[in-house]
Amino acid sequence: MSPGLYVHVPFCRSKCPYCAFYSIPSPSLIPIWLDSLKKEVSLYSGQFEPFDSLYVGGGTPTLLETGILADLIKHLFTHFDFTPDTEVTVEANPCDLTDEKTGALRDLGINRVNVGVQSFDDRVLSFLGRRHRVKEINGALNHLRRLGFENVGIDLIYGFKEQDLKDWRNTLYNALSFQPEHISCYQLTFEKKTVFGRLRDKGQIEPLMESEEAAYFLTTSQHLEDNGYIHYEISNFAKNKACRSRHNQKYWRHIPTLGLGPSAHSFDGKKRWWNVRSIKRYCAAVEKGRPPVEGWEDLTEEQLWLETLSLGLRTSTGIDLRAVSRIPQSDAALSNLQASGLVKVIDGRIIPTREGFLVADQLPVCFFEGV
Ligand code: SF4
Repeated sequence: MSPGLYVHVPFCRSKCPYCAFYSIPSPSLIPIWLDSLKKEVSLYSGQFEPFDSLYVGGGTPTLLETGILADLIKHLFTHFDFTPDTEVTVEANPCDLTDEKTGALRDLGINRVNVGVQSFDDRVLSFLGRRHRVKEINGALNHLRRLGFENVGIDLIYGFKEQDLKDWRNTLYNALSFQPEHISCYQLTFEKKTVFGRLRDKGQIEPLMESEEAAYFLTTSQHLEDNGYIHYEISNFAKNKACRSRHNQKYWRHIPTLGLGPSAHSFDGKKRWWNVRSIKRYCAAVEKGRPPVEGWEDLTEEQLWLETLSLGLRTSTGIDLRAVSRIPQSDAALSNLQASGLVKVIDGRIIPTREGFLVADQLPVCFFEGV
């Protein structure tokens, strides 16, 4: 299968209190970042088969001025080979999707826009430190449809005390009213070195209890499936099979991906490497003609196999029955998992159920240690 290309745009207008991605509020560094990125491109020229997905993420790619974004996309398409039907995704902040910017994205050949909506509730958006409000979301999604985008994704966040199940259902209801091709529902996590992480450590924010988290997850899955969406990965739903994120599926299926930009990760089928998480060190390395790589690991056959189990059991395609046959007690474990309603076996594949998704991290362990 064709590899995918990811570009990390490490700039945001401000930092959201829950966000652990590498991004900085320093737009003055955009020109030097772009210059370095072009140099990083040349380091990998000719090393990958033609890509069939390009994902421009971040950070906030849509804060780049149209000319910069055009320069970036043109450079990538000039120096790498892409298949004719490449999925080209850009992550967007609703505030940036003006009529003009949205039209420019379309004219650049971007055929998929993933909008960081997070909630359809102004009170929740304020709690999450987002700079947009529902008014901007509605405007952005309407612009996208009016200008002809037929592949639109929406990201949402749930799982905190400032929102109850009724609020969350209301957000899902509003999201569905736009009939997006793709919906990602992420549970809020309190990452170290984030504002929310520190507040949690001080006891000033209280995470949900496990049973509450489960209620949100099951409600979300049930509600979106009732509305015709396919729950194809723990956090991801697609309107139909063709609307699944081609790029993100590569991460779950061990398909090679090249990541460019500070903090971007890459995988060539056996080796994984990741770039430095600092724009200064990134630019300095590339200026010297060195890959801006912070670290790497060569994955053994055993590690690749274990990852196949853990990644596959997070998706609705599951894993091949043969993948667990080398585990001595796998037959008994599989029978127990089936009896518990956590997996099904369909066409020679072990597929997690909705309840299985809820404990997906523990499913591979069950094959080794029993249920
Ligand atoms: S806009 Fe997105 S990438 Fe930027 S800080 Fe907020 S969550 Fe993180």
